[in-house]
Amino acid sequence: MRYISTRGQSPALSFSDILLGGLAPDGGLYLPESYPQIGRAELDAWRHLGYAELAFEILSRFIDDIPAEDLRALCERTYTPAVYCHTRAGDDAADITPVKWLEPGRLALLELSNGPTLAFKDMAMQLLGNLFEYVLDKRNDSINILGATSGDTGSAAEYAMRGKHGVQVFMLSPHGRMSAFQRAQMYSLQDDNIHNIAVTGMFDDAQDIVKAVSNDHAFKARYKIGAVNSINWGRVAAQVVYYFKGYFAATESNDQQIAFAVPSGNFGNICAGHIARMMGLPVAKLILATNENDVLDEFFRTGIYRPRKTAETHATSSPSMDISKASNFERFVFDLVGRDPEVVRELWASVDAGGAFDLTKTAFWSQIGDFGFVSGSSSHADRLATIRMCDQKYTTVIDTHTADGLKVALEHPQSGVATLVLETALPAKFEETIVEALGRKPERPADLRDIEQLPQRVEVMAADVNAVKAFIVRHLER
Ligand SMILES: *Cc1c(COP(=O)(O)O)cnc(C)c1O
Repeated sequence: MRYISTRGQSPALSFSDILLGGLAPDGGLYLPESYPQIGRAELDAWRHLGYAELAFEILSRFIDDIPAEDLRALCERTYTPAVYCHTRAGDDAADITPVKWLEPGRLALLELSNGPTLAFKDMAMQLLGNLFEYVLDKRNDSINILGATSGDTGSAAEYAMRGKHGVQVFMLSPHGRMSAFQRAQMYSLQDDNIHNIAVTGMFDDAQDIVKAVSNDHAFKARYKIGAVNSINWGRVAAQVVYYFKGYFAATESNDQQIAFAVPSGNFGNICAGHIARMMGLPVAKLILATNENDVLDEFFRTGIYRPRKTAETHATSSPSMDISKASNFERFVFDLVGRDPEVVRELWASVDAGGAFDLTKTAFWSQIGDFGFVSGSSSHADRLATIRMCDQKYTTVIDTHTADGLKVALEHPQSGVATLVLETALPAKFEETIVEALGRKPERPADLRDIEQLPQRVEVMAADVNAVKAFIVRHLER
């Protein structure tokens, strides 16, 4: 299996070659040359597999440069009930991603947030930690991950990379801008290879520092600076697995179809759903939900993709979807335009210049129906109303992002097909809004009850590129 760039001007590479990198050199995103096709025989054989075995079966279709027995061991080590221990489904904990029915046979949550940081990012990131360590060990190499976070991604990366040999993590966060719980989650890690840096500024200042360091090519090469952002192909591939698992759990036979509702920001999660469908999973609909930052909803309604400027991005109560430029979207558009890299280059020439594109002016828009997408958006008031409704009607407390998914799912009722709403975080992560909606705090997993009391380790620093570089050098040359 070789990986090609959506812009068509980079050499094809193997899985291990693209695992540690980001964008392709031509500015595109990597995708497999073709999607592995899953037929009825595989669906029948996979229906009753446990999560780790299913992950191995699917990932081995994408990864052919890691020996099968090693890949199997990596999957088994990653997808264990001990790692995904925060389920509220009781006995189903061994399922890793249990299905919780709200209306039996019709509507359910696919629980993806039982990992260490209570968000679905753990599903892929935990595997990535093990894959990084494996590939770096084989190559006798190392990587220094530099990132900026306003919450979910940074903590998922730290919990995935903690204690891994060959990996150091330098994570910038905006000083005093995260919730007490989020701060405690990240800053209480005491592992030697995890470095938290709180910069006195906003998230964008932290992000700018990461960009500046990455643009210093000499520094980047000398200190082996890498990233684990949402365009990483390994993350997308790992996410394909739970679409299959959810399908098997929520249907009785492989003759049935299913719909997925996906709270979306960077288009990473739902991109995996699109790929599962392209592989042959019987997906009737992919229901894309945004919050007030509705760039993607606008595209699926109108054919116009118009990323917003940072200043036009709203700070909402589903903050992990406060994204106005969907970094994985190019992967879907590549498929939509018949995998023609020249067309993608042309479209992104306008996007990269700060503009937009309008697909209704092309013949490709007439194909959109073949891909099964529908969409909608949600506001703060919708979110509160949905959390209240779900609590009253289904006695289930959901988080703000999942509420956006459920709200849009209910606007697109499917007849004869069950809808799985992907639960992308647990409500404990967004206490404030839950209190606003329900007048009480959400339940917090017992092992995290006193996390704010743990000792914290963080370096507070001015939002200054040189100070951050000096910190990195000091720690690497120790
Ligand atoms: C990251 C995240 C999302 C958005 O996922 P994308 O892959 O960026 O579309 C939604 N909900 C939560 C809780 C997240 O952390």
